[in-house]
Amino acid sequence: MQFVNPFKGPGQWYKGNAHSHSTVSDGRLTIEERFAQFQEAGYGFLVLTDHGHVSDVSSYDVPGEFLAISGSELHPKNPYGGSTYHIVAIDIHEPIDTADLHPSGVIEKIREQGGEAILCHPYWCGHTIIDLMPLHGYIGVEVYNATCVGIGKGVSESHWDELLDKIGPTFGFAVDDCHGTEHDVHRGWIHVKSEKLELPAIMDALRRGAFYSSMGPEIHDLDISEVEVTTREGDKGKATRLHIHCSPAVSIAFKGCRSTGRNYGAHNGELLTEAEHIARGSERYIRIEITDPTGKKAWTNPLWL
Ligand SMILES: [Zn+2]
Ligand SMILES: [Zn+2]
Repeated sequence: MQFVNPFKGPGQWYKGNAHSHSTVSDGRLTIEERFAQFQEAGYGFLVLTDHGHVSDVSSYDVPGEFLAISGSELHPKNPYGGSTYHIVAIDIHEPIDTADLHPSGVIEKIREQGGEAILCHPYWCGHTIIDLMPLHGYIGVEVYNATCVGIGKGVSESHWDELLDKIGPTFGFAVDDCHGTEHDVHRGWIHVKSEKLELPAIMDALRRGAFYSSMGPEIHDLDISEVEVTTREGDKGKATRLHIHCSPAVSIAFKGCRSTGRNYGAHNGELLTEAEHIARGSERYIRIEITDPTGKKAWTNPLWL
Protein backbone atom coordinates (compact mmCIF):
# COMPACT_ATOMS: atom_id res chain seq x y z
CA MET A 1 0.00 0.00 0.00
CA GLN A 2 2.05 2.90 -1.31
CA PHE A 3 1.01 6.52 -1.53
CA VAL A 4 0.32 7.66 -5.08
CA ASN A 5 0.54 11.44 -5.35
CA PRO A 6 -3.02 12.30 -6.46
CA PHE A 7 -2.03 15.90 -7.24
CA LYS A 8 0.01 14.69 -10.22
CA GLY A 9 -2.25 11.86 -11.35
CA PRO A 10 -4.93 11.99 -14.06
CA GLY A 11 -8.62 12.55 -13.41
CA GLN A 12 -10.65 15.01 -11.43
CA TRP A 13 -11.52 15.56 -7.79
CA TYR A 14 -14.69 14.09 -6.30
CA LYS A 15 -15.82 15.00 -2.80
CA GLY A 16 -17.16 12.13 -0.74
CA ASN A 17 -18.13 10.94 2.72
CA ALA A 18 -17.30 7.36 3.68
CA HIS A 19 -19.39 7.02 6.88
CA SER A 20 -23.09 7.84 7.35
CA HIS A 21 -26.26 6.57 9.04
CA SER A 22 -29.98 6.54 8.26
CA THR A 23 -33.16 5.53 10.12
CA VAL A 24 -32.30 1.92 9.20
CA SER A 25 -30.04 2.12 12.29
CA ASP A 26 -29.68 5.15 14.59
CA GLY A 27 -29.66 8.01 12.06
CA ARG A 28 -32.38 10.67 11.99
CA LEU A 29 -32.89 10.83 8.22
CA THR A 30 -34.29 8.17 5.91
CA ILE A 31 -31.92 6.67 3.34
CA GLU A 32 -33.55 8.84 0.67
CA GLU A 33 -33.15 12.02 2.74
CA ARG A 34 -29.54 11.18 3.60
CA PHE A 35 -28.50 10.70 -0.03
CA ALA A 36 -30.36 13.85 -1.11
CA GLN A 37 -28.58 15.84 1.62
CA PHE A 38 -25.18 14.96 0.15
CA GLN A 39 -26.07 15.03 -3.53
CA GLU A 40 -27.61 18.51 -3.16
CA ALA A 41 -24.47 19.75 -1.38
CA GLY A 42 -22.34 18.87 -4.41
CA TYR A 43 -20.81 15.64 -3.13
CA GLY A 44 -19.75 13.07 -5.73
CA PHE A 45 -20.43 10.07 -3.51
CA LEU A 46 -21.71 8.89 -0.15
CA VAL A 47 -21.25 5.53 1.57
CA LEU A 48 -24.23 4.45 3.70
CA THR A 49 -22.90 2.55 6.73
CA ASP A 50 -25.77 1.68 9.07
CA HIS A 51 -24.80 -0.32 12.15
CA GLY A 52 -25.03 -4.02 11.34
CA HIS A 53 -27.21 -3.46 8.24
CA VAL A 54 -26.54 -3.40 4.52
CA SER A 55 -29.11 -1.62 2.37
CA ASP A 56 -29.58 -1.71 -1.40
CA VAL A 57 -28.83 1.89 -2.36
CA SER A 58 -28.62 1.45 -6.14
CA SER A 59 -31.80 3.50 -6.75
CA TYR A 60 -30.02 6.63 -5.37
CA ASP A 61 -27.26 6.36 -7.93
CA VAL A 62 -27.27 9.09 -10.63
CA PRO A 63 -24.84 7.86 -13.33
CA GLY A 64 -22.01 10.32 -13.93
CA GLU A 65 -23.29 12.72 -11.26
CA PHE A 66 -23.62 10.99 -7.93
CA LEU A 67 -22.47 7.63 -6.68
CA ALA A 68 -24.45 5.86 -3.93
CA ILE A 69 -22.25 3.22 -2.28
CA SER A 70 -23.57 0.52 0.03
CA GLY A 71 -21.68 -0.35 3.18
CA SER A 72 -22.06 -1.03 6.88
CA GLU A 73 -20.54 -0.28 10.28
CA LEU A 74 -19.60 -3.52 12.00
CA HIS A 75 -18.91 -4.14 15.67
CA PRO A 76 -16.76 -7.17 16.38
CA LYS A 77 -15.96 -7.97 20.01
CA ASN A 78 -12.61 -6.90 21.40
CA PRO A 79 -10.56 -9.82 22.80
CA TYR A 80 -7.86 -7.43 24.09
CA GLY A 81 -9.77 -5.81 26.97
CA GLY A 82 -10.82 -2.57 25.24
CA SER A 83 -14.24 -1.53 23.97
CA THR A 84 -15.98 -3.05 20.94
CA TYR A 85 -14.52 -2.21 17.55
CA HIS A 86 -16.26 0.03 15.05
CA ILE A 87 -15.22 -0.92 11.52
CA VAL A 88 -16.68 0.73 8.43
CA ALA A 89 -17.09 -1.53 5.40
CA ILE A 90 -17.18 0.25 2.03
CA ASP A 91 -18.80 -1.49 -0.93
CA ILE A 92 -20.28 -4.63 0.61
CA HIS A 93 -23.65 -6.05 -0.37
CA GLU A 94 -24.37 -8.79 2.16
CA PRO A 95 -24.60 -8.46 5.96
CA ILE A 96 -21.72 -9.97 7.97
CA ASP A 97 -22.34 -11.80 11.25
CA THR A 98 -19.52 -10.61 13.52
CA ALA A 99 -20.53 -12.65 16.60
CA ASP A 100 -17.88 -15.38 16.44
CA LEU A 101 -15.23 -13.59 14.40
CA HIS A 102 -11.95 -11.98 15.35
CA PRO A 103 -11.97 -8.35 14.10
CA SER A 104 -9.39 -9.29 11.44
CA GLY A 105 -11.75 -12.10 10.37
CA VAL A 106 -14.48 -9.50 9.93
CA ILE A 107 -12.13 -7.42 7.77
CA GLU A 108 -11.37 -10.55 5.74
CA LYS A 109 -15.12 -11.10 5.15
CA ILE A 110 -15.42 -7.49 3.98
CA ARG A 111 -12.63 -8.02 1.48
CA GLU A 112 -14.10 -11.33 0.29
CA GLN A 113 -17.11 -9.29 -0.87
CA GLY A 114 -14.78 -6.95 -2.76
CA GLY A 115 -15.05 -4.21 -0.15
CA GLU A 116 -12.53 -2.36 2.01
CA ALA A 117 -12.38 -1.65 5.75
CA ILE A 118 -11.63 1.48 7.75
CA LEU A 119 -11.02 1.57 11.51
CA CYS A 120 -13.42 4.12 13.00
CA HIS A 121 -12.83 6.87 15.55
CA PRO A 122 -10.19 5.13 17.72
CA TYR A 123 -9.95 8.10 20.12
CA TRP A 124 -13.71 8.01 20.77
CA CYS A 125 -13.52 4.21 21.29
CA GLY A 126 -10.74 4.68 23.83
CA HIS A 127 -8.61 2.38 21.73
CA THR A 128 -4.85 2.31 22.09
CA ILE A 129 -2.17 0.53 20.11
CA ILE A 130 -2.91 -2.57 22.27
CA ASP A 131 -6.35 -2.80 20.61
CA LEU A 132 -5.15 -1.79 17.13
CA MET A 133 -1.88 -3.75 16.78
CA PRO A 134 -3.49 -7.20 16.27
CA LEU A 135 -5.73 -6.01 13.40
CA HIS A 136 -4.79 -6.31 9.76
CA GLY A 137 -6.26 -6.01 6.28
CA TYR A 138 -7.80 -2.53 6.59
CA ILE A 139 -6.82 0.36 4.31
CA GLY A 140 -7.20 3.26 6.72
CA VAL A 141 -8.21 4.86 9.97
CA GLU A 142 -10.50 7.81 10.65
CA VAL A 143 -8.25 10.77 11.41
CA TYR A 144 -11.35 12.94 11.88
CA ASN A 145 -14.92 11.97 12.75
CA ALA A 146 -17.44 14.82 13.07
CA THR A 147 -19.97 13.07 15.31
CA CYS A 148 -17.21 12.23 17.82
CA VAL A 149 -16.65 15.96 18.31
CA GLY A 150 -19.74 15.63 20.54
CA ILE A 151 -17.48 14.37 23.34
CA GLY A 152 -14.44 16.35 22.18
CA LYS A 153 -12.74 13.30 20.66
CA GLY A 154 -13.15 13.90 16.93
CA VAL A 155 -9.46 13.91 16.00
CA SER A 156 -7.40 10.69 16.11
CA GLU A 157 -4.12 12.01 14.70
CA SER A 158 -1.83 10.35 17.23
CA HIS A 159 -3.57 6.98 16.74
CA TRP A 160 -2.84 7.31 13.02
CA ASP A 161 0.81 8.16 13.73
CA GLU A 162 1.13 5.15 16.01
CA LEU A 163 -0.21 2.86 13.27
CA LEU A 164 2.23 4.41 10.78
CA ASP A 165 5.09 3.88 13.21
CA LYS A 166 4.22 0.38 14.43
CA ILE A 167 2.35 -1.18 11.49
CA GLY A 168 3.18 0.68 8.26
CA PRO A 169 1.26 2.42 5.47
CA THR A 170 -2.30 3.34 6.52
CA PHE A 171 -4.47 6.04 4.97
CA GLY A 172 -6.28 8.75 6.96
CA PHE A 173 -9.99 9.45 6.39
CA ALA A 174 -12.00 12.50 7.52
CA VAL A 175 -15.69 11.54 7.78
CA ASP A 176 -18.97 12.91 9.07
CA ASP A 177 -20.36 9.69 10.61
CA CYS A 178 -23.58 11.70 10.33
CA HIS A 179 -26.47 10.58 12.51
CA GLY A 180 -28.25 13.94 12.83
CA THR A 181 -29.40 16.64 10.48
CA GLU A 182 -26.81 19.37 11.00
CA HIS A 183 -24.14 19.19 13.73
CA ASP A 184 -22.41 16.16 12.18
CA VAL A 185 -23.21 16.82 8.52
CA HIS A 186 -20.77 18.21 5.89
CA ARG A 187 -18.01 18.66 8.51
CA GLY A 188 -15.38 16.17 7.33
CA TRP A 189 -14.84 14.59 3.91
CA ILE A 190 -12.32 13.27 1.41
CA HIS A 191 -11.38 14.64 -2.01
CA VAL A 192 -10.70 11.65 -4.27
CA LYS A 193 -8.81 11.93 -7.55
CA SER A 194 -10.37 9.60 -10.08
CA GLU A 195 -10.76 9.41 -13.86
CA LYS A 196 -14.42 8.45 -13.53
CA LEU A 197 -17.21 8.75 -11.00
CA GLU A 198 -17.81 5.01 -11.06
CA LEU A 199 -17.53 2.50 -8.24
CA PRO A 200 -14.49 0.53 -9.52
CA ALA A 201 -12.54 3.75 -10.20
CA ILE A 202 -13.39 5.30 -6.81
CA MET A 203 -12.55 2.06 -4.95
CA ASP A 204 -9.26 1.83 -6.86
CA ALA A 205 -8.41 5.43 -5.89
CA LEU A 206 -9.16 4.68 -2.21
CA ARG A 207 -6.92 1.60 -2.32
CA ARG A 208 -4.08 3.67 -3.81
CA GLY A 209 -4.51 6.51 -1.31
CA ALA A 210 -5.30 8.91 -4.16
CA PHE A 211 -7.21 11.29 -1.90
CA TYR A 212 -6.84 13.77 0.92
CA SER A 213 -9.01 14.55 3.93
CA SER A 214 -10.44 17.89 4.95
CA MET A 215 -12.72 19.86 7.25
CA GLY A 216 -12.45 22.88 4.94
CA PRO A 217 -8.90 23.76 3.81
CA GLU A 218 -8.06 22.93 0.20
CA ILE A 219 -4.81 21.54 -1.09
CA HIS A 220 -4.07 22.81 -4.60
CA ASP A 221 -0.85 21.01 -5.43
CA LEU A 222 1.84 18.78 -3.98
CA ASP A 223 5.16 18.50 -5.73
CA ILE A 224 7.50 15.68 -4.73
CA SER A 225 11.01 15.52 -6.17
CA GLU A 226 14.43 14.11 -5.42
CA VAL A 227 17.14 16.64 -4.58
CA GLU A 228 20.84 16.44 -3.80
CA VAL A 229 21.89 17.56 -0.32
CA THR A 230 25.14 17.90 1.54
CA THR A 231 25.33 16.26 4.95
CA ARG A 232 26.93 17.88 8.02
CA GLU A 233 30.00 15.77 7.34
CA GLY A 234 30.24 17.26 3.84
CA ASP A 235 29.05 14.13 1.99
CA LYS A 236 26.64 14.32 -0.91
CA GLY A 237 23.33 12.50 -0.52
CA LYS A 238 19.79 12.31 -1.85
CA ALA A 239 16.74 13.76 -0.11
CA THR A 240 13.03 14.23 -0.91
CA ARG A 241 11.68 17.71 -1.44
CA LEU A 242 7.98 18.26 -0.74
CA HIS A 243 6.36 21.51 -1.86
CA ILE A 244 2.68 22.08 -1.09
CA HIS A 245 0.23 24.79 -2.20
CA CYS A 246 -3.00 25.25 -0.24
CA SER A 247 -5.75 27.66 0.82
CA PRO A 248 -4.63 30.27 3.42
CA ALA A 249 -3.26 28.53 6.53
CA VAL A 250 -1.90 29.46 9.95
CA SER A 251 0.30 26.40 9.90
CA ILE A 252 1.56 23.72 7.54
CA ALA A 253 3.05 20.77 9.40
CA PHE A 254 5.19 18.08 7.78
CA LYS A 255 4.90 15.21 10.24
CA GLY A 256 7.27 12.26 10.26
CA CYS A 257 7.84 9.28 12.49
CA ARG A 258 8.31 10.01 16.22
CA SER A 259 10.25 13.26 16.86
CA THR A 260 10.90 14.09 13.20
CA GLY A 261 9.24 16.64 10.91
CA ARG A 262 8.66 20.37 10.98
CA ASN A 263 5.83 22.81 11.51
CA TYR A 264 5.80 26.04 9.46
CA GLY A 265 3.72 28.83 11.00
CA ALA A 266 2.35 32.13 9.68
CA HIS A 267 4.32 35.22 10.64
CA ASN A 268 3.00 38.70 11.50
CA GLY A 269 -0.56 37.72 10.59
CA GLU A 270 0.42 36.82 7.03
CA LEU A 271 -1.13 33.46 6.21
CA LEU A 272 0.75 30.71 4.40
CA THR A 273 -0.38 29.43 1.01
CA GLU A 274 2.65 27.22 0.39
CA ALA A 275 5.50 25.52 2.21
CA GLU A 276 8.49 23.42 1.34
CA HIS A 277 10.26 20.75 3.32
CA ILE A 278 13.31 18.62 2.64
CA ALA A 279 13.00 15.12 4.10
CA ARG A 280 16.28 13.31 4.55
CA GLY A 281 14.94 9.84 5.29
CA SER A 282 14.99 9.53 9.08
CA GLU A 283 11.32 10.61 9.04
CA ARG A 284 10.41 7.22 7.41
CA TYR A 285 7.20 8.86 6.21
CA ILE A 286 5.85 12.37 5.83
CA ARG A 287 2.20 13.35 6.04
CA ILE A 288 1.14 16.99 5.79
CA GLU A 289 -1.41 18.80 7.96
CA ILE A 290 -2.87 22.19 7.02
CA THR A 291 -4.62 24.32 9.67
CA ASP A 292 -6.69 27.36 8.64
CA PRO A 293 -7.35 30.47 10.80
CA THR A 294 -10.59 28.95 12.17
CA GLY A 295 -8.79 25.79 13.32
CA LYS A 296 -10.14 23.59 10.53
CA LYS A 297 -7.65 21.11 9.11
CA ALA A 298 -6.74 19.11 6.03
CA TRP A 299 -4.53 16.00 5.95
CA THR A 300 -2.60 14.40 3.10
CA ASN A 301 -1.88 10.70 3.11
CA PRO A 302 1.62 9.66 4.15
CA LEU A 303 4.45 9.54 1.65
CA TRP A 304 6.90 6.71 2.45
CA LEU A 305 10.51 7.73 2.04
ZN1 LIG B 1 -18.96 4.15 15.31
ZN1 LIG C 1 -20.99 5.44 12.62
